[in-house]
Amino acid sequence: MREWNELFMANYGTPRLTLVSGSGNKVIDSQGNEYLDFLGGIATNILGHAHPAIIEAVTKQIGELTHVSNFYAHPKGLQLAEELQQLVGVTSARTFFCNSGAEANEAALKISRLTGRKRIVAFTNSFHGRTMGALSMTGQSSKRAPFLPLIPDIKFLPFGDDRALKRGITKRTAMVIVEPIQGEAGVILPPQGFLRKIRERCDETGTLMTVDEVQTGMGRTGEWFGYQREGIIPDIITLAKGLGGGLPLGATIGIGKAAGLFQAGSHGSTFGGNPTSAAAALAAIRVLREENFLKRVRLLGERLKTDGSSIAGVREVRGEGLLIGIELEAANAQAVAQALEQRKVLVNAANPSTIRIAPALVTSGVDVERFLGCLEESVGQVR
Ligand code: PLP
Repeated sequence: MREWNELFMANYGTPRLTLVSGSGNKVIDSQGNEYLDFLGGIATNILGHAHPAIIEAVTKQIGELTHVSNFYAHPKGLQLAEELQQLVGVTSARTFFCNSGAEANEAALKISRLTGRKRIVAFTNSFHGRTMGALSMTGQSSKRAPFLPLIPDIKFLPFGDDRALKRGITKRTAMVIVEPIQGEAGVILPPQGFLRKIRERCDETGTLMTVDEVQTGMGRTGEWFGYQREGIIPDIITLAKGLGGGLPLGATIGIGKAAGLFQAGSHGSTFGGNPTSAAAALAAIRVLREENFLKRVRLLGERLKTDGSSIAGVREVRGEGLLIGIELEAANAQAVAQALEQRKVLVNAANPSTIRIAPALVTSGVDVERFLGCLEESVGQVR
C-alpha cells in the first residue's frame, strides 16, 4: 500500500495509527495492538464499534432499500423525524436531514436569511464546521484567516458573558448560534443560565436562537440535548456526529416560525436522511432509550470529574456526561495524549493544556477506572 502522504492532501497531518477493527470502545490497529478508544470518533460512535443493534439495522436496511433520493419518502426517514420531534417535545418541530454538522449549520444559516434579516451573532472560540458558511460562524481566527473573505455581518460575542448580549443582539439580528458546551475549544462550559439569557434576548428582539448540538446532542451529556439543562426551547437545533450511531447523518430541526421558512426548492441534500443512516439512527435511539442508559452516562461523567480532578498534575476536569475536558497544570496535553497512546488509550489534545475525551456511551465503569489509572501514569510520566 502507498504511504498516506502519497495519497492524501495534507489537511489532517499524517495519522500515526491505522485502525482496522473494533468492538464496543476497543479498537485494533494494523499491528494487532488493542486500544481503549476514549475519543469515540470524536463524540460520534455513541454505541461504539460493531454494536449488534447497528449491525442488524444497517444490514436489514441495505438488503431492503438503499437510496431513494428526495423525490420519495421512506419509512425510516419518517420514523426518525417523528422520533426527533418527540425528543424535542414540540409538535411544530420539522426536520431537514443532511450528512454532517457543517451542513446542518449551513442549513440553519440559510433559514436565518429567510427571516429578512442578515446579521448573525456567534461566540468567540466557537466551532460550527469547515464549510464557508459554518466557518464564517466559527469564532477561531486561525481557522478563518486563510479563507477570508467569509460571509459578512457576523459578530462574535464573548462566550459566557451575558452582559454582552443586550448590545450584541438587536432587532436586526437574524440568528444567534451557540454551543451548549464548546467541544472543540476544549470542553468549555458557559456559566449556568447563559443559554437562558440568550433565549430571553432572542425573544425580546425576534431573533432565531440556534443551538449547535452536533457534539453535545444525542445523549452525550447525559441528556438528549445539552440545552435541556437550562429548560429552554431553541428555534433551531443542529445535530450530526452521534445522531447516525456512527453513520453519516446530520439534521437541522426548526421549531415554530423557523420550522416553516424553507419552502419547496429552498434547500436540499442528495444523501441527507438516506434509509441506511436513518435505520442506524433509529437503532441507536432505541438503545439510548433503555432504562437508566442516560443516567449511567451522567454518573460516569461525575466519576471522571471527581476522581480525575484529584490526579496530581490535573488542574480541573470539566464537562457533562461523557464529554469531558481534562485541564492539565502544564501546557503538555500533546505529550500526555502520546503517553496515553503508549498505554493503549486513545484521546485527543483539544488545545495545548486540555485533553478531551468523548468515549462511546456504552463505556463501563471498568473502562473509566482503566482510563483514570493510565491518565495518572501518563501525567506523572511527562511532568
Ligand atoms: N459543530 C460542532 C459543535 C462540532 O463540534 C463540529 C465538529 O466537530 C461541527 C459542528 C462540524 O461537524 P462536521 O465535522 O460533521 O461537519
